[in-house]
Amino acid sequence: MIYLNGKFMPIEEACIPVLDRGFIFGDGVYEVIPVYSRKPFRLDEHLKRLQYSLDGIRLKNPFDNDEWRHLLEQVVAQNDGEDQYIYLHITRGVAKRDHAFPVNVAPTVFIMSNPLLPPPAEMLISGAAAITAVDNRWARCDVKAISLLPNVLLRQLAVDAQATETILIRDGFLTEGAASNIFIVKNNILLAPPKSNLMLPGITYDVVLELAAADQMAHEVRPISETEVRLADEILLTSSTKEIMPITSLDKKPVGDGKPGKLFTRLHALYQNYKATRMRGLTSGTAG
Ligand code: PMP
Repeated sequence: MIYLNGKFMPIEEACIPVLDRGFIFGDGVYEVIPVYSRKPFRLDEHLKRLQYSLDGIRLKNPFDNDEWRHLLEQVVAQNDGEDQYIYLHITRGVAKRDHAFPVNVAPTVFIMSNPLLPPPAEMLISGAAAITAVDNRWARCDVKAISLLPNVLLRQLAVDAQATETILIRDGFLTEGAASNIFIVKNNILLAPPKSNLMLPGITYDVVLELAAADQMAHEVRPISETEVRLADEILLTSSTKEIMPITSLDKKPVGDGKPGKLFTRLHALYQNYKATRMRGLTSGTAG
């Protein structure tokens, strides 16, 4: 069951007019929110980022946070699975094709939820492969825009190389993955690229840095050069649906000793523990 513009319906019955600006221009923003035990995880943070993305494209938020919470609860309740991931999507609505913003047009709001499966155990034991590519996206990668063509092309490079992710390098520095944030480890120090207009401020990225700080793990947020990525002891990938994953090969060469490293193992355990504690602490599906 999905939500579309005020109605709940089976996804097969959902239709969008061809003049929707999401279809015509990719003119919209989205969020992906993990749901554990039917409770949205870090919901306040996701809604804050949604507001940031909407501000970035100058589109008014159609709902306040309580309305979003209520809608998301209803979508989760109408779908199978204790663990799900919500995809929510807002476009500038339906209007005659013209680049300029339409006047007095209602936005299109679409929400769906799918079962959330953790990364396969094999991935956590052996790690995943990644390749590198030049980051050729626009200069507002901090906005979670639905126009993802560059990300699609970059991610397909990984698929073509039988790898899991494409790690992006812009002007000699690490930005992020095609659909994830990237950390590296060197000499037992966790390193993260600083937030900027060139990367998405990941919710999982924030969780990992909070967990590292609480654990008194040595960590630095600073620009990371391509050379540092290639000489890293560990590379970690984070996203809401993949949580934390070890990258054990880069451009077909082993990362460090080619096995998931110590900091990955520690952060993965901390993340699972944090998730469990947080979900136990919540009494309804509304907080998070
Ligand atoms: N960067 C990009 C380009 C992404 O698409 C994503 C999410 N899939 C992330 C980073 C990770 O963000 P989050 O932890 O909020 O899922």
